[in-house]
Amino acid sequence: MSGEVIKWAALLPDQRDALVHEKVMGHKERAICRSEQRYGYDDGDWECGECGATGQWNNAMVGDHYQPIPHYTQSLDAAWLVMEHFDELVLVVHVKPRWHCTLHKDEAPSGNATMKTPQEAICVAALRAAGITVDESEKTDG
Ligand SMILES: [Zn+2]
Repeated sequence: MSGEVIKWAALLPDQRDALVHEKVMGHKERAICRSEQRYGYDDGDWECGECGATGQWNNAMVGDHYQPIPHYTQSLDAAWLVMEHFDELVLVVHVKPRWHCTLHKDEAPSGNATMKTPQEAICVAALRAAGITVDESEKTDG
């Protein structure tokens, strides 16, 4: 076991997404988007028409900008990107509802998790498959 233990409940959703982006998807650095296609909003914000990044007109990053990290742990659409890194995914919903996900690679179970939403179950199972120890308990103390 590596010494790294992730306290799931202590992370903000965006921090969870960033963790999956690096540890599971293998992106060490943020990708740069060079598109100049912009949708403007009345409140002074812009949204990139290509990658969906958002910003404000009055800051310097209107040209090249970081592509947003997909919301793997918040959206089932984005969680599906994680699934493509594995050979087989088994997703079971229990009555509570709790979602149980088992991920397989090379015909062996390589990670599993039981979480409140299917997207979180997929992401935590994938992190465990990547060798990360995730403590998903919701209480901060035992
Ligand atoms: Zn963009």
